[in-house]
Amino acid sequence: MDAAVKTTPTVLILLGPPGAGKGTQARMLEEQFGLVQLSTGDLLREAVAAGTEAGKAAKAVMDAGDLVSDGIVIAILRDRMADPDCAKGVILDGFPRTTVQAETLDGLLAETGQQINAAISLEVEDAEMVTRISGRYTCAGCGEGFHDTFKQPAVEGKCDKCGNTEFKRRADDNAETVKSRLAAYHAQTAPLIEYYAGHGVLKKIDAMGQIDEIAQGLAGIVKGAMN
Ligand code: AMP
Repeated sequence: MDAAVKTTPTVLILLGPPGAGKGTQARMLEEQFGLVQLSTGDLLREAVAAGTEAGKAAKAVMDAGDLVSDGIVIAILRDRMADPDCAKGVILDGFPRTTVQAETLDGLLAETGQQINAAISLEVEDAEMVTRISGRYTCAGCGEGFHDTFKQPAVEGKCDKCGNTEFKRRADDNAETVKSRLAAYHAQTAPLIEYYAGHGVLKKIDAMGQIDEIAQGLAGIVKGAMN
């Protein structure tokens, strides 16, 4: 076999506070590199909507802007990672968020001979986050992200990507909850930047600029990390 042929799936982690653009950038990378975006926030919102036991336990915690328990999140992530499409490689968006989650992920990957190609920290200032989050909404059909100020549909009221005319806003995207979510990020998730630096896989990118510029920078990092 050609030694240059990569046989294990790519594993990328996007780190950053709420509103840093992890979801938007993950969706762009997904298309460009043929990877699967795994957002634990999306998986939890699906569980809440479906009324599962995990969803019922998570709802009040999410509404308050706190972190859902490691046990619930890890179980949801582990199930999703076992789906066949994840063999293409994954972009983890919003996971891990605690040291326990990071260590559990290391263990899960080791079981299947996988490793993390890069943990990319999207660097932003807190002050910007409230504006970014309070203006954002998504297409109810395909999930494409939009923003009242930064990214409106080309045709008003119509999704650029799928043409759908219904949009939705997240219940936790309000100024009060954002403060709790930022506090949770600084207390429990920011230490993972050091964790991944220690593992030699940390990359940082300035995520204060335009979406397309950040996407270009990220694509360069991902290309380098996949080789
Ligand atoms: P997100 O869509 O990533 O902003 O996540 C929305 C909410 O889901 C968070 O504020 C948390 O309550 C919960 N959540 C998502 N991912 C995790 C995680 N990895 N650990 C704990 N809670 C999470």
